Amino acid sequence: MNQPVVELDKVRRVYGRGETEVQALRGVDLSVDSGESVAIVGRSGSGKSTLMHSMALLDRPTSGQVRVNGDPTSHLTERQVASLRNASFGFVFQQFFLVAGRSVLDNVTLPLAIAGVRPKERTRRGMEVLEALEISEKARARANDLSGGQKQRVAIARALINDPSVIFADEPTGNLDEVTGAVVEDLLFSLNRERDITLIIVTHDPELAHRCHRTVTIQDGTLTTSNATGATA
Ligand code: ADP
Ligand code: MG
Repeated sequence: MNQPVVELDKVRRVYGRGETEVQALRGVDLSVDSGESVAIVGRSGSGKSTLMHSMALLDRPTSGQVRVNGDPTSHLTERQVASLRNASFGFVFQQFFLVAGRSVLDNVTLPLAIAGVRPKERTRRGMEVLEALEISEKARARANDLSGGQKQRVAIARALINDPSVIFADEPTGNLDEVTGAVVEDLLFSLNRERDITLIIVTHDPELAHRCHRTVTIQDGTLTTSNATGATA
């Protein structure tokens, strides 16, 4: 039986106040099971990123509860939230967010450096994920000298370095051409199948959404559908 890994309970997120107030999430209930792949779709400004950031503990709700592995998080301090996030989640973004002048290995092991892991151990684990993603020959290259597809592969390696249970991806193929994007998609879905890593993917791409077990549609801060797509990834 798969257990819920991330659950939202009546999550509201209000930005600003008074005349500039925006209700980005209007009481969202959503539960994602361990091992699922879920696409979040909706128009620009509908609340996709806010929803993803709330699930990923990058942003805290105005009200409501986010549970991770069944445990509520609203009472946690910022520090506790950060450590839970770093232990449980990996992130892949459209813009890659690599440190341009640093080596691939430095970029991939950055989360370990932040967590205080010693350099030798960082290198060992960094090389391990780079080898698993078949890009270890680029370990010493500067991040800036890579192609878009290679950069996203490095970003996925970095997302994997802490052995996360969930990978959150916000438009992961948005900056890639079709062929390279397909390779990156295949990589994400193979992590889902082979390592049982839960995928939560924000996308505009109907084909990518269709490869996920389930699509969640958000409209003006409210979930409108939560359908099984019936896809076999
Ligand atoms: P999407 O990712 O679907 O484009 P967002 O979650 O980014 O949507 O935004 C949802 C709504 O919240 C939009 O109206 C947006 O303008 C607003 N919003 C998002 N972030 C902020 C912010 N930091 N301050 C004020 N309003 C914001
Ligand atoms: Mg967005």
